[in-house]
Amino acid sequence: MKRTLKEVVYISELLDINFQDIYAVHDLLAYYYPDRMEALQPNKSHHHVYPYYGVVFSTRNSAFNPDKCGQTDVALYPQFFVLDISCPKVVLEHELGHLAWANHDIDTLSYQTEGYLFDLAAWLPVGLHSKIKQYAYGYHCGGKGTVMSYADEFHPSTPALLSLSMA
Ligand SMILES: [Zn+2]
Repeated sequence: MKRTLKEVVYISELLDINFQDIYAVHDLLAYYYPDRMEALQPNKSHHHVYPYYGVVFSTRNSAFNPDKCGQTDVALYPQFFVLDISCPKVVLEHELGHLAWANHDIDTLSYQTEGYLFDLAAWLPVGLHSKIKQYAYGYHCGGKGTVMSYADEFHPSTPALLSLSMA
């Protein structure tokens, strides 16, 4: 798999605004950059490209102070992520994994649902159930984990530790 970075845009409009969640960030992007947002829609792209886009914050330079390193909501924004630039590099790929409908390892999900058996279908509208893949979870093997897991170490040899605060 090859990813291509198309463009980096400095967004000064978001610097001084105090917001806490991905929904506010996306609303503000749509407000300040309606033409750019429209151009990112899959049916408007060339060659069937399905572009991802995100906002990368520096929590040192903005009022954005999420309780998580990265955030996505694939059901609502299938192309959009939010990251803190000080997070480990692997968090970007983790969030892009969520946008590809991958999820955490089952043990972590059970912990996050406070012991209830995690059932993605219970969280999604019926129209999105076809996106659920039974194999698309993080896995642990030999003491390390894949990028979607909450492991302390990653396969094949990702040096950065993944923060337990990612979403
Ligand atoms: Zn996650």
